Amino acid sequence: RRAAEVAQWRGPGRTADGHPVQILGNVADGASARSAAALGILEGVGLFRTELAFLERPDEPSVAEQERLYREVIEAMGGAKVVIRTLDAGSDKPLRFVTHPDEDNPAMGVRGNRIVATHPEVRDHQLDALAAAADGAGAPVWVMAPMIATVAEAREFAAQVRGRGLVPGVMVEVPSAAILAEKILAEVDFVSIGTNDLTQYTMAADRMSADLAALTDPWQPAVLALVERVGAAGAATGKPVGVCGEAAADPLLAGVLVGLGVGSLSCAPAAAAAVGRALATVTLDQCAAAAQAAVAADGPAQAREAARAILG
Ligand code: PEP
Ligand code: MG
Repeated sequence: RRAAEVAQWRGPGRTADGHPVQILGNVADGASARSAAALGILEGVGLFRTELAFLERPDEPSVAEQERLYREVIEAMGGAKVVIRTLDAGSDKPLRFVTHPDEDNPAMGVRGNRIVATHPEVRDHQLDALAAAADGAGAPVWVMAPMIATVAEAREFAAQVRGRGLVPGVMVEVPSAAILAEKILAEVDFVSIGTNDLTQYTMAADRMSADLAALTDPWQPAVLALVERVGAAGAATGKPVGVCGEAAADPLLAGVLVGLGVGSLSCAPAAAAAVGRALATVTLDQCAAAAQAAVAADGPAQAREAARAILG
């Protein structure tokens, strides 16, 4: 009976012993949000990558145009939680209206929230559009900044977001943000770990390099140790910690992340059912044991093996 229940899992996310884990989707626009909602298993959107809509644009989209796009995604989710990320321009996603075309080291350059150093008005306009889109939406709209590295950046972002009546959070994708997670969580209402970049920056290995795939593996124990630190900061402050990188789509790693203190997993919608089913077969104690074993492992292969031995 239990196996049949798991096979028919339709959400909400729960471990076998009933510990809630929100299963959310990553989306790029209204159309992808509508198809995510149509799956009928997601508890909301955990990452709306707003920059993807503007990759081809020579100049900044108007506030009205942005408002329409954001409202479309919020409405597609029918009142469920929506986490919208401010523009993550730069590096692998250059935007012509903000990104300097010849930075020496774009992954470490003016990327994400750092555009406030060069184009503060672009972020202001986006926050105005987000506030307008959320106004009267009747849904919780959370707004988070990418590429936060310092407590001061988190504080400045939170003030701007709160000033517009929205819920502020930041992504943890730079090792400094993981190290300072407790102080950062004192400034914002939630954090979401971007494991793609957190792995890239922790391992000093380009996430786009096929040659370095063994290094850009979220099972690297150093990456898991940073996730553990962020999870502990969430427990200490009582604030939500999520994961929205590709790691959240790995059903085995999902159990490890939950064991490290992660309360929501946001992944490509097509991967969500497998993640939900995997969590439904394991207890929180098993997740915690797998997490400890994975962090203590010598490398990613050993971490996977240790987790598999406990989580099945
Ligand atoms: C990440 O870095 O894990 C993340 C979710 O952001 P992106 O993949 O858009 O850089
Ligand atoms: Mg990222």
